[in-house]
Amino acid sequence: MAVVSLQARCVFLGAPGAGKGTQAKRVAEAVRLAHISTGDMLREEVAAGSELGRQAKSFMDGGKLVPDDVIIRMVQDRIRKPDARAAWILDGFPRTLPQAEALDRSLSGAAALTHVIYFAVPEAVLVGRLSGRRTCSKCGAIWHVENQPTKKPGVCDRCGGELLQRSDDRPEAIGKRLEVYRSQTSPLLAYYRDRKVLREIDANRSPDVVYKELLKLMQ
Ligand code: AMP
Repeated sequence: MAVVSLQARCVFLGAPGAGKGTQAKRVAEAVRLAHISTGDMLREEVAAGSELGRQAKSFMDGGKLVPDDVIIRMVQDRIRKPDARAAWILDGFPRTLPQAEALDRSLSGAAALTHVIYFAVPEAVLVGRLSGRRTCSKCGAIWHVENQPTKKPGVCDRCGGELLQRSDDRPEAIGKRLEVYRSQTSPLLAYYRDRKVLREIDANRSPDVVYKELLKLMQ
């Protein structure tokens, strides 16, 4: 059921572990739009051993941001691809003010975004979500050892793939990622609030409840 406008150009904002990726995947499966996750794109580059992947890996493993010029170029190329012409969700981008400004320039203004949705979750909850998160190495499905366990530990319920812990979901990197979020990404809330496109969702609830509310917000 296509309840979301096919012209949607959305940004999902929120701290690591807020559920942006889980919800973006679900929306993109229900509605025809491109799910553009800069984190997933970078992990693919790392796995492929490309030059970009090699540059990005040390930043990612340390919980730091990959430099703006690299990310901005990557996203600009991606949103020009044919599958992203009509509608997309940006998940994990922008994460800094220069990235938000570059996005505005590419789209000729923040008003060109149809939705900027902030996934609000208290920091104490985020740490538990990130440390228990497991990702399927085959289909990318996201699970959690306690909140959303698979039937067989370590094995994806959807495709039987092996579940892995992301290297940046280990305790050393989690603290750094949350600090980077606070200092570099959270100022984007005021940026989009001032431009009157920011909507907030209480994402400290079950994925199903958040999903239902998200679809209402995006209608
Ligand atoms: P994510 O999967 O969104 O949590 O991203 C994983 C990692 O990829 C981040 O911790 C950063 O190192 C890098 N990354 C993803 N998106 C961006 C971005 N927009 N700007 C800079 N670095 C990013």
